[in-house]
Amino acid sequence: MNSRKYIFISGGVISGLGKGVTAASIGRLLESTGFSVTAIKVDMYLNLDAGTIRPQEHGEVFVTDDGLESDQDLGNYERFMNVNLGRANYITTGQVYQEVLRRERAFEYQGEDVEAIPHVTDEIIHRIKEAGRVQRAEIVIIEFGGTVGEYQNALFFEASRIMKFKTPADILQVHVAYLPIPVSLGEMKSKPVQQSVKLLNSMGIQPDMIVGRADAPIDKRRRERLALFCNVRPEDVISNPNVDSIYEVPLILEAQRVGEIILEKLGLKPRRHNLKDWRKLVASIQRVKREIKIAVVGKYFGTGDYTLSDSYISVIEAVKHGGWTQGIKPNMTWIDAERYETNPKLVQELNTYAGVIVPGGFGSRGVEGIITAIKFAREQKIPYLGLCYGMQLATVEFARHVAHLIGAHTTEIKKRPTHPVIHIIPEQEKKLLKFEYGGTMRLGAYPAKLKKDTRAEKIYGRGRVSERHRHRYELNNEYREILESAGLVISGASPDGRLAEIIELPGERHPFFIGTQFHPEFQSRPLSPHPLFTAFVTAAKKRQLVSLTADQLADPAL
Ligand code: GLN
Repeated sequence: MNSRKYIFISGGVISGLGKGVTAASIGRLLESTGFSVTAIKVDMYLNLDAGTIRPQEHGEVFVTDDGLESDQDLGNYERFMNVNLGRANYITTGQVYQEVLRRERAFEYQGEDVEAIPHVTDEIIHRIKEAGRVQRAEIVIIEFGGTVGEYQNALFFEASRIMKFKTPADILQVHVAYLPIPVSLGEMKSKPVQQSVKLLNSMGIQPDMIVGRADAPIDKRRRERLALFCNVRPEDVISNPNVDSIYEVPLILEAQRVGEIILEKLGLKPRRHNLKDWRKLVASIQRVKREIKIAVVGKYFGTGDYTLSDSYISVIEAVKHGGWTQGIKPNMTWIDAERYETNPKLVQELNTYAGVIVPGGFGSRGVEGIITAIKFAREQKIPYLGLCYGMQLATVEFARHVAHLIGAHTTEIKKRPTHPVIHIIPEQEKKLLKFEYGGTMRLGAYPAKLKKDTRAEKIYGRGRVSERHRHRYELNNEYREILESAGLVISGASPDGRLAEIIELPGERHPFFIGTQFHPEFQSRPLSPHPLFTAFVTAAKKRQLVSLTADQLADPAL
């Protein structure tokens, strides 16, 4: 067997370039040539994982099967490469330092000075290699967060330089950088990329390939200039322009032979070429004809570095996956639930949507507005999908308005409500009392048993499923009977029956009303859409066909 190969992907000029999509696309291409590939995201934060970072700051917290709270890029890797990743695939500065300091206290350095180089860089290299081993990958892609030149990621670049120094034939450096087209000039400028490559050079790193991100394709002249000034062959300068769908990126890279060039440089020969399924996928995305409008109701407010859609990227992608297979392009609108608190009449605007989703969330902001929206979706028979918090708040809504449990609530919001229909999982309470917040939720994949002849069982087409979780609260079993006798169906539960996993309204009450305690969005892949999302879009599509009256549309309150 060949030695394991490592491809480092760094960013230049600006962040938010779509480096993750580039890394994931390269992974897809290499897999299509018959190699086993894994991908690691390196984040520069001192946080041990992404679980303690606000999604508005950092983007979505993506949860893996083994319960890691990670960066949204792991979601990109899983979706593009169709693999299941885990703890080894996410490295933060905090993890590295924590281990180095643990070893220092355990006298594992045996009296040596513990220094950034080599001890911190060794730990980084160890983790990178370990991920390749754990995932049994022949090729490991390592994406560095941030951009070259930031103090906080210098040691990671240094680790990559050392790896290249030790085994040059096994290491590749790919630099993804931005070519702006200033409006005032109207032409693409390559100088910022040249400068970021100079920064790399100053750290002893020469890129083997440059991926130029820009609003438009890179022309021949600029490609040649970049090659000349950055010391690479013109064919190693890859154009990665904006596209309608991120899923087109692997094909754009393939057209420039990226997979083959990388293999050549690593001394590998392709074992096969198989991008057929991906080409079919992209063709079906490009073919979609009908748009349907989906409302995503939640608490939304000003964002930091990341945009709102980054905070829910897996939900957005899962809905899209569910649509493409049936020629549908779901159009998502973010609705701030606080609107319905200040003016409940506005909730009628939901009538103009084909479906309503309430995604995961925490805290009290907008909660009453969300409950108003769920009530409206239930009463007006608008297809409804509640994800985690969306399931819990649907339970609260049902308890209050159908089971007549006045004052029903979740104890996350109200400490002692008259009817705590959602309450904290007992083990979770103990953790919070000890201030153990990081990485302590009910996390990762757990099995659920589905009840026979329910909507959920029919949609999944099987009786047992495994789904990923991230929560501290659950449906209070003391209320199960009351809720069930009022017509709520608990169609999925943990195998011991203790924890409610799925709630639904039966077909005679509603065309589509499902809430899941888990996050099905994390397992949806473009090539294998999640059945719950497909079913939701199918129901939404039907509603659109029968939809609105002119009167409703003309309502001045909307
Ligand atoms: N806040 C709720 C809980 O902790 C829901 C979490 C979520 O939506 N991910 O249980």
